[in-house]
Amino acid sequence: MPGSYLIFGPPGAGKGTQAPRLATRLGVPHVSTGDMLRAHVKGGTPLGVEAKGYMDAGDLVPDDLVVRMLGERIAEADAASGFLLDGFPRTVVQAEALDAMLAERGRPLDCVIVLDVPEEEVVRRISGRLVAQNGRIYHELYDPPATPGVDDEEGLPLVRRPDDEPDVVRNRYRNVYLAQTLPVRDHYRAAGVREVLIDGIGSTDEVAARLDQALPA
Ligand code: AMP
Repeated sequence: MPGSYLIFGPPGAGKGTQAPRLATRLGVPHVSTGDMLRAHVKGGTPLGVEAKGYMDAGDLVPDDLVVRMLGERIAEADAASGFLLDGFPRTVVQAEALDAMLAERGRPLDCVIVLDVPEEEVVRRISGRLVAQNGRIYHELYDPPATPGVDDEEGLPLVRRPDDEPDVVRNRYRNVYLAQTLPVRDHYRAAGVREVLIDGIGSTDEVAARLDQALPA
């Protein structure tokens, strides 16, 4: 049903996989601030130039930049009857800015969808990624190469990106997600917004089925 939804969870929870499909089913545009920022970086826009350093370091882009970008996006015609936000708000300041924008539209947030994946699974998912020089991405557990440590097609060695090292992932989970983003969930709980909790462990299809069941179109 059209309305304003927000999908919430740590990086690695599967939001980017589930959100586009869920948005189509709910009949609303999928609004991902991560995708929008990556497009700005790729296009070399002033916002992209400013955001890149934060993104490369795994830090949050400053609230004012992201809030402005998001405000412009949800003012577009296709978002008039709702949207599914993915990756926004990531701080309570952003949540308060969103609340103000929605108050102006006269319609508060309808639902917060929480994709629940514990820290250890996040670390397993992200740190299991192995990359070949040709850009192919494997996963130690979920999509392993035929020969461990070697790309299937060109025999190139597979490496783990420095950003995907378990310690880096764990630090980011604690210092960015738990410290800055999790309070957004409490913010909406305190405001009495409906929360739908989805177990994010399992295959893409299993998680999609849980979402479909919890959120009938
Ligand atoms: P994502 O694809 O949602 O994981 O976003 C990729 C990166 O973009 C994040 O690691 C942040 O650096 C930045 N980013 C995306 N959304 C936001 C946001 N709402 N606030 C601050 N930074 C963001």
